[in-house]
Amino acid sequence: MSIARYYKKNNALHSQVIFYLNKKIIENMFPNDLTEKYKNWQNDVFVKKKAHFERLAREGQSPTYIIISCVDSRVDPNSIFKSQPGEFLVHRNIANIVPPYDYITEHSGTIAAIEFGVSVLKIENIVVMGHSKCGGIKNGYNMCKANSFNANSSISNWLSLLKPSFNKIANMNEDESIKNLEKVSIKTSIENLKSYPFVREKLDSNEINIYGSWIDIGSGKIHALDFASSIFHPI
Ligand SMILES: [Zn+2]
Repeated sequence: MSIARYYKKNNALHSQVIFYLNKKIIENMFPNDLTEKYKNWQNDVFVKKKAHFERLAREGQSPTYIIISCVDSRVDPNSIFKSQPGEFLVHRNIANIVPPYDYITEHSGTIAAIEFGVSVLKIENIVVMGHSKCGGIKNGYNMCKANSFNANSSISNWLSLLKPSFNKIANMNEDESIKNLEKVSIKTSIENLKSYPFVREKLDSNEINIYGSWIDIGSGKIHALDFASSIFHPI
């Protein structure tokens, strides 16, 4: 509707026209559904937790957990653990992989996030969280099996990090092998994590705890890694 027609139809006051124009401008800048969700959050969650947000702004963040999880839209640690803002430092990448340590690697985004959490924010707990039906793991499995990686694809390059885990899994039927790779890659990630110098240092002085977990999307059940038996148990 043109501004003139809106004016005429609504016999609008100047302030109403400004409101209408502002609304139109925002619609062009940001998706409507996200604006609506944001307004709901602002009027509900933010109002209820206003003092908490003000304190976070004033005092900064001091999260208690670093959580490494997948980018998969079905697996959101903040939602699963119903966390408070400021409680978790969450780093998400395809297939929740912690790469081997090398500070000049092309994978330094993940390493930098972990270093920030451990060395700067002094977070004392790290959780690597995998999940069922992981598309990243499935694709990585297929690439490893065919030994076919595309040097021009970032996804392929990233998933080639699964090779050491793939080499550890037993030869089962495909579904079982993929599920197994989901869990074995969590163990490999934890081994990589333990080799990071700033993590190693904290482990030596018992200042950091590392956990492995895997969530079954359909049942919502979390399985935690028992380091003694190297088995994931439902919690
Ligand atoms: Zn995934």
